[in-house]
Amino acid sequence: MTQPNHKRTDEDLAQLRVSGEIPVPALIGWLTLAAIPTLAFFAYRAYLREDAHSTPVLIFFMALLALNGLVYLLTRREALQRRSFIAIVTGLFVFFAITALEEGSAIIWMFAYPPVIFYISTPRTGIIACAGGLGAAIILFSPIGDAIFNTPYSTSFRVTMVAVLVFEMGSCYVLDQSRRRAKSRLLKLAAEFEYAATHDALTSLANRREGMDRLAVEYERYLRNARPFSVVLLDIDWFKNVNDEFGHQAGDEVIVRVAQTLKNECRKVDTIARWGGEEYLALLPETEAGEALQTGERFREAIHRNPVSYQGREIPLTVSAGVATIRGSESIDRLLQRADEALYQAKGLGRNRVCCYDGSAS
Ligand code: GH3
Ligand code: MG
Ligand code: MG
Repeated sequence: MTQPNHKRTDEDLAQLRVSGEIPVPALIGWLTLAAIPTLAFFAYRAYLREDAHSTPVLIFFMALLALNGLVYLLTRREALQRRSFIAIVTGLFVFFAITALEEGSAIIWMFAYPPVIFYISTPRTGIIACAGGLGAAIILFSPIGDAIFNTPYSTSFRVTMVAVLVFEMGSCYVLDQSRRRAKSRLLKLAAEFEYAATHDALTSLANRREGMDRLAVEYERYLRNARPFSVVLLDIDWFKNVNDEFGHQAGDEVIVRVAQTLKNECRKVDTIARWGGEEYLALLPETEAGEALQTGERFREAIHRNPVSYQGREIPLTVSAGVATIRGSESIDRLLQRADEALYQAKGLGRNRVCCYDGSAS
């Protein structure tokens, strides 16, 4: 069976949500809601300590987070929300690290960074952000950082912090990759199931169920805009003889060949469905009876021109077809019944011909 071949990028994957998965904008929204009171709490503590420098900076970050949330609510621009959130949070962690807020313990918040960053962005952005964060922490803990920022971290704290950060970032990357792979396989499997449920395995045409669904859609459109559509019901002539003389395998090849010819001869907007064993239905949107009859005739000729060669022998190939065009307020069932009657008439008149329900034959 031919499968739809979608090569998905990480960006595409992030857009496609599996049921139950937390959408990135919602996660950022919840994190923002959690971060604002947390920052307010630490701003208040800084105020009590008379830390005149930290209080306004923390309030500034609170305001930035609130603004980002507000802009998202107004514009619904997900990429802007995500990028701004990453930038604000990165700035906040840099501030925590260099000011050694809360006696240097605020830097521990850095452990909250990797899982969130991998979840809300692509693996590439996650790796760059984590490598940047780790690099910044190492510089901060190095003699250069000491010279510039004069932070109070002890040597054992610095070693442990860097080691645990490396461990955490590595674990987050591995877990995130596993989550993405599982999601990708799940989506692929869902696409395959959907394809199998709507397509015929032998010809890759729409199956009867899918054909009926598209007929229903076209019917709705007809009821709205009153532009009639037509159907052509085609049946391979004397097909049983093909199976009997050449074998089932040859019969299958004939079925596939007719499907390909119909596909080649129809317009992009048309639907060709495998209606039954050696029966096909062509759905022609916005097509009047005359044009539909011409299309049916084009199908018939093209199939007749393309006999199948099987093991050096030529299999003669013709089809009969019945055409019907929707009219008035008749139902889909009635339309199909008329196409079937026209097909029956084509068979009765000697096969290898196209009949319209109103009696015109070619
Ligand atoms: P007519 O011109 O009246 O349509 O005659 P016919 O022989 O084409 O019609 P009939 O209904 O007698 O035979 C259809 C045959 O198609 C019978 C069935 O075994 C065969 N058939 C149905 N599906 C398949 C398939 O998927 N592969 C093959 N090889 N044969 C199939
Ligand atoms: Mg048949
Ligand atoms: Mg037949």
